[in-house]
Amino acid sequence: MISVSSVSKRYGGFAALDEVSVEVESGSLTALLGPSGSGKSTLLRVIAGLEVPDEGTVVLEDRDVTRLAPQRRGIGFVFQHYAAFKHMTVRDNVAFGLKVRKRPKAEIAAKVDELLGVVGLAGYQGRHPSQLSGGQRQRMALARALAVEPKVLLLDEPFGALDANVRAELRAWLRRLHDEVHVTTVLVTHDQEEAMELADRIVVLNGGRVEQAGAPRELYDVPANPFVMGFLGPV
Ligand code: ADP
Ligand code: MG
Repeated sequence: MISVSSVSKRYGGFAALDEVSVEVESGSLTALLGPSGSGKSTLLRVIAGLEVPDEGTVVLEDRDVTRLAPQRRGIGFVFQHYAAFKHMTVRDNVAFGLKVRKRPKAEIAAKVDELLGVVGLAGYQGRHPSQLSGGQRQRMALARALAVEPKVLLLDEPFGALDANVRAELRAWLRRLHDEVHVTTVLVTHDQEEAMELADRIVVLNGGRVEQAGAPRELYDVPANPFVMGFLGPV
């Protein structure tokens, strides 16, 4: 579904990404794991089209999108500090992308109802974002991203700003959502537990390079890789 080939991205002389290649299977949930500054957000931004790489290509569904504008890639995003439209209700926040696309009113209403049900905010349609908890706001952000039925959902530390217990709840919930909706998802996290619990596949970045990639169990089964063992710690 997503094929990143030999992508490099430099800022001045510094390589934030250094010949990174990553394959993401259709319908999977891939975690990008790595320490702060390892290039996770930069890679996500390259996939999204918010950055053009200096070298390499990004292919989505067999189409080279390396230089295609973000809004034409069929991608939904959720970032750590989600910017909701404060003056709009929850319903209007979720409907926003559908309105921009000029979908019929009845279709928008049905879609918003369905998604707010899925994210457990059915009774919150008329509220404003300030009347939601942090976890509820992130669920609203996910509903908004999913409303336009993106082919790919990119999540950059979406729960990073929240309390540990809220984060754990959202993780379990995201996994269930993914199992239901099957949208190809790339989740950035520096939290190994989050990656282990959620992902079908984990890609470990370090210093702008791919250190390791595989199923969560496989990463633990590579004792020869001192970085991965050191970073992930014992089981
Ligand atoms: P991560 O998300 O893994 O914490 P980032 O992808 O945000 O890492 O950043 C990787 C490296 O690239 C960091 O050293 C960061 O300072 C640098 N970097 C990212 N974006 C820019 C930018 N716009 N200008 C200069 N340096 C940047
Ligand atoms: Mg980041």
